[in-house]
Amino acid sequence: MDLYQGIKDVAKVLQQADNIDLYKQLLELGRQAWEMQTEIERLTKETRELREAQELKAKVIRHDEPFITLEGRPSSEMYCATCYAKERTLIQVRDLHNGYFTCPSCNTTGVCDSTLANWVPETGSPLTW
Ligand SMILES: [Zn+2]
Repeated sequence: MDLYQGIKDVAKVLQQADNIDLYKQLLELGRQAWEMQTEIERLTKETRELREAQELKAKVIRHDEPFITLEGRPSSEMYCATCYAKERTLIQVRDLHNGYFTCPSCNTTGVCDSTLANWVPETGSPLTW
């Protein structure tokens, strides 16, 4: 039996029997049941969020630069270590294709490809004017 439907059915009987004291007690019990239901939903949501955060934490791979990658995901999928540390949120960083990355949320920058970031064109190469 649905709790609230049961309370409603009993309340109807008490109201018809003109038992005001029991009717008021039942309304109070109904209010308490509603508060407990709300608390159960809040705790269930909190538990789910904590479990998800714990599962995510177990997959995080840290690097010398301020980005993280996730176990089981491509290494090119990089997330901002600053945003993760502050908010526990995954913000994918933008690869600037010059060896550096930047976070679109907090503007953290760093090196994601040291070979490309340290590349200096050779003098006398055909591209040098
Ligand atoms: Zn960030």
